[in-house]
Amino acid sequence: METVAPYKEIIEVIKASGGDAFKRCFQCGLCDVVCPWNKVRNFSMRKLIREATFGLTEIESEEIWRCTTCGRCPQQCPRDVKQIESGVSLRRIATEYGVFPTSVKPIRTISGSLVGEGNPFGEERKKRANWAEGLSVKTFTEGMEILYFPCCYLCYDPRLKKVARATATILNRAGVDFGILGAKENCCGESIRKTGDEDVFKRLAKENIKTFIDNGVKKILVSSPHCYHTFKNEYPEFMVNFEVVHISQYIFQLIHEGRLELTKEYGRKVTYHDPCYLGRHNGIYGEPREVLKKIPGLELNEMAESRVDSFCCGGGGGRIWMETPKGERFSDLRLEQAVGVGAEVLVTACPYCITNFEDSRLNRENSEVIQIKDITEIVQEVI
Ligand code: SF4
Repeated sequence: METVAPYKEIIEVIKASGGDAFKRCFQCGLCDVVCPWNKVRNFSMRKLIREATFGLTEIESEEIWRCTTCGRCPQQCPRDVKQIESGVSLRRIATEYGVFPTSVKPIRTISGSLVGEGNPFGEERKKRANWAEGLSVKTFTEGMEILYFPCCYLCYDPRLKKVARATATILNRAGVDFGILGAKENCCGESIRKTGDEDVFKRLAKENIKTFIDNGVKKILVSSPHCYHTFKNEYPEFMVNFEVVHISQYIFQLIHEGRLELTKEYGRKVTYHDPCYLGRHNGIYGEPREVLKKIPGLELNEMAESRVDSFCCGGGGGRIWMETPKGERFSDLRLEQAVGVGAEVLVTACPYCITNFEDSRLNRENSEVIQIKDITEIVQEVI
């Protein structure tokens, strides 16, 4: 087994990641100051960049798989080193060589499931629309107002199916002419791309794009910030441009247009967690908060690390599929931050965040002091 990526390959990575991205690093360490890993264990992006610059990256080590692509360090870097793209490039080399540490090995099975069934769980493709049973949800046809693309987690995960159902209920209440494509959809491919499996990402993306075009899709409503990011910022690499809207933005718009009214009381203390791919990566901070502020009786308390400084849940960069030992889970710390501002409900707008926070809640003593909710689940209660 190779223990060190050949120098020539690392140089290729440097070129592929935007010229001399690694070489621009002058080792100031500002990335390490903000990196969430340093609240739970040692990890140095600065050191990783340094090793890559000299072709010394140990591609079989855990270190190249730690980054959650949360986006905090690129905001701090004075030299535009492009840590996320550079880090993913190293994972591409590991993927090409087939060199994975034990914690990352499950991703190989996930790749097979994504190719075969279009989802990371090994669930049957034909069951993709089962979440909508009993609700009035139509199949998308050309000319409808919007396609609702719920994401694999909302289609199959028992906890997150509730979010898809809440979304459909809200859309029906507002009289939105929407449809779904069910078994015709694939995973958007965001997370598998971040693990370095570019081939599987391209395959998923091309199939989705063909499906969207064949079915006359122009505008896509998503629940996951990861789908949002991919459709909006990465699918244009294939020369297409769909209008993409996140459910938090869409609810805000429906209220603004007078199509949705939030009338019932929600007399609870709430804090909002900005998902990395909604906030830092796509600048959507205002609409989710505006929606929450319109709910009668709801008290919104902000955590210190919010908006651009939001603390990552730990699920990005494909890490949602990797085992993170107890004591190293960012979501455990975030939950304590939420409890610390007196919140009875931690509300967010991302399936990965909800998955991680629910795990943290269940592993916490006095788990009943706080609930985890998607923004749609609260809105559903007050319409
Ligand atoms: Fe290098 Fe940028 Fe990190 Fe400074 S912040 S150590 S320049 S990658």
